[in-house]
Amino acid sequence: MLIVAKDRSFPAHFTKNLNFGTQTIFFRMRTKLVAGNWKMNTTPEEGQKLASEVVNMVKDELNREVQVVLAPPFTHLHQVSRLIGDAKHISLAAQNVSEHEKGAYTGEISVGMLKAVGVKWVILGHSERREFFKESNQQLAKKLDAVLAGGLQPIFCCGEPLEIREKEDQNGYVQRQLEESLFHLSEEQMRKVVIAYEPIWAIGTGKTASDDQAQEMHAHIRQQLAGKWGQNLANEIRILYGGSVKPDNAKSLFAKPDVDGGLVGGASLKSRDFMDIIKGAV
Ligand code: PEP
Repeated sequence: MLIVAKDRSFPAHFTKNLNFGTQTIFFRMRTKLVAGNWKMNTTPEEGQKLASEVVNMVKDELNREVQVVLAPPFTHLHQVSRLIGDAKHISLAAQNVSEHEKGAYTGEISVGMLKAVGVKWVILGHSERREFFKESNQQLAKKLDAVLAGGLQPIFCCGEPLEIREKEDQNGYVQRQLEESLFHLSEEQMRKVVIAYEPIWAIGTGKTASDDQAQEMHAHIRQQLAGKWGQNLANEIRILYGGSVKPDNAKSLFAKPDVDGGLVGGASLKSRDFMDIIKGAV
């Protein structure tokens, strides 16, 4: 999506400028984002190797603007943060966070703790957290509040299970997830959110949504955002696709007008595959 604009009163991920002599024209377009969710995989040593390979490949091979986000397990965040250092294009995400600030919450990690080790993003509402840890839309609303209050950016996951897709009720299902977790946010807060549409039947199954199925849902999500916050804001929000993204399907998925990159699980554990997926966003 490309809009030519008079000024630059919009977020950095939504701005490009070109200089023509004395005149500068600002283009408004969404910078693509590709995030790698390592889940509960890799030892610290393997994580270190994987992160340094990705950092080096991005440095050597990425010559266009794509935001790359790495989401290793909590125990690796500190070392991956140091490896990323001030590398251009790459930043660090956590896979989850507590909605509480501090206190007697054994086993939990706070937003403040994540910030202290250089985390910039938090994945929220991944289907595995919803399914195995019973995270509800209401709890996710609280986690979103905590993340935004702490100055981090959420990657908010939504998506329907197979039985809902088979009943063709996926639009209503995803709409409810958005309404119950996001719709209390102000316009300013919403600007910081990235949405990841991940149909559960496509996660880790090797079954990818077709390019058209992804586009159809992304357009539906954007329409919901426009209905709540207006078309301008809806145009700014990045909506990632997740679910068996691989080097051979990334390019055509990311070419769809409402698909602004990907949230990648399995394929983000192989640096070459992950880099080829990132290049699919260029
Ligand atoms: C994910 O875990 O968010 C995911 C999309 O996994 P995979 O790419 O392995 O399907």
